[in-house]
Amino acid sequence: MTIISVNLQAVKARIRAAAQSVGRDAGAARLLAVSKGWPAECVRSAFSAGQRAFGENYVQEGVAKIAALDDLDLEWHFIGPLQSNKTREVAENFDWVHSLDRIKIAQRLSAQRPSGASPLQVCIQVNVSGEDSKSGVAPAEVAALAHAIKPLPGMCLRGLMTIPEASENHELLRQRFALLRKLLEQINGAGMQLDTLSMGMSDDFEIAIAEGATILRIGSAIFGQRSKKGS
Ligand SMILES: *Cc1c(COP(=O)(O)O)cnc(C)c1O
Repeated sequence: MTIISVNLQAVKARIRAAAQSVGRDAGAARLLAVSKGWPAECVRSAFSAGQRAFGENYVQEGVAKIAALDDLDLEWHFIGPLQSNKTREVAENFDWVHSLDRIKIAQRLSAQRPSGASPLQVCIQVNVSGEDSKSGVAPAEVAALAHAIKPLPGMCLRGLMTIPEASENHELLRQRFALLRKLLEQINGAGMQLDTLSMGMSDDFEIAIAEGATILRIGSAIFGQRSKKGS
């Protein structure tokens, strides 16, 4: 067994235990393996251990890895900041985008999604901690953006994503994740049927599971610590 497969099994066991402890199904939260900063061979190793969905933050790096792993049946999620001059590569190569926070980017992805491809699955990134430096829309703007994205062809709005501030304060993190869940409930109460809460990373995914996460984005607990440069 490789270290990656050992880590993967350990993370899955923690996910099952966390789900069980709050009365959720063991499979209620999907695992997205965040492979940014790691070579294609590490993705191959995780694939051999049963992992299918992978997350990338940087367009160039992600597209190169997708091409190198073309022989595998993988699902690719773009989770990083997205500039308008990079939307075409994302629309043509990825299955999901978690980090939408501007209608202009959504419109470009919609127009650039190849006509034969399945709809791009998208989430709106929300800035739940109110830090100026963080990307994501303010909670008060989420509903309007959701209604603007919903009718765009070539994409399917699935839900919300967030990255709270790094903190050791579990109660604070819990409140941030709870806010994302409440925002999703509000939008659904207004007539949408969104099913995705993309929240929880290596250091806080158990808290996210308790607040209803459906996709966990986990990197270092699976692949190891990234070098500072690649983080
Ligand atoms: C890097 C990253 C992750 C994974 O972080 P880890 O702490 O390594 O689990 C998840 N989501 C986003 C948006 C990231 O950039």
